[in-house]
Amino acid sequence: MTTTSALTFQPVLERIAEEIARTPGRGRPADYIPALASRDPRSFGMAVAELDGTVYGVGDWRQPFSAQSITKVFTLALDLAREGDDLWEHVGREPSGNPFNSLVQLEYENGIPRNPFINAGALVVTDRLHTRTGDAAGTLLDFLRAESGNPALTFDEEVAASEAGHGDRNAALAHFMTSYRNIENPVPELLDQYFRQCSIEVSCADLALATSFLARHGVRADGTRLLTRSQAKQVNAVMLTCGTYDAAGEFAYRVGLPGKSGVGGGIIAVVPGRCTLCVWSPGLDERGNSVAGVAALDRFTTLTGLSVF
Ligand code: GLU
Repeated sequence: MTTTSALTFQPVLERIAEEIARTPGRGRPADYIPALASRDPRSFGMAVAELDGTVYGVGDWRQPFSAQSITKVFTLALDLAREGDDLWEHVGREPSGNPFNSLVQLEYENGIPRNPFINAGALVVTDRLHTRTGDAAGTLLDFLRAESGNPALTFDEEVAASEAGHGDRNAALAHFMTSYRNIENPVPELLDQYFRQCSIEVSCADLALATSFLARHGVRADGTRLLTRSQAKQVNAVMLTCGTYDAAGEFAYRVGLPGKSGVGGGIIAVVPGRCTLCVWSPGLDERGNSVAGVAALDRFTTLTGLSVF
């Protein structure tokens, strides 16, 4: 095991990319959102951002992709910053053990979703952020633009429309939670916010930078504080235990970092106090995590010795 200095990140990334290129079997792109189905599973990019904003990258690390569920980390942070612990009365923080779009647990727990990263929980968080800001998706986009330093970030209206056209399950979740009074806004308005949130196009470089506030214990790129140190720890902890669908145990075992995946094939990961990572490859395993993405993060923590354990 070696100790990594900034200078060694680029060779590590290049070695990982070479290994990934030789590895057969990339999984399949998500096809339940038709606009995502045509992505090439052989695409691969990876970026590491230092706390000072220096970014290292390899492969398709500047290629925009659909952030999808990765955005749930940022809406969680943005809402937690505004309402603090009251949020936890409306959404739990335990792994669900069920698929990300599952309905079953809600009936047993009075419409309180298990955690903010399954779809039901993310809908609650977006709903609450929307109440507080009047524009949850716009607040999120502004934050991502500021933290990444990329003012060109935008929604992909085609992906948002594609998801809206196939969004019956998310609509069912939102209506069901409304019956428990755990959703405040009209369901069509909430779904519009949520689908636009998920559709944001970002690159590995953008997301590695935008995630840095979690490695800086809550401090944003401009030096102001979004979260208290304790809240940043909480978000990282929920990422570790709930961030990779019902494979969070396997991800912690293999990678050993707080992480959050999305069905667009991206995964972000945090080394608190040190750096952030984003990897993208659109082929998914049966639980919805990028096959090459998990493998690359596994190799990164193995080669560098950087993990939270
Ligand atoms: N917008 C997607 C959905 O709600 C997000 C899925 C994901 O990335 O996990 O189905």
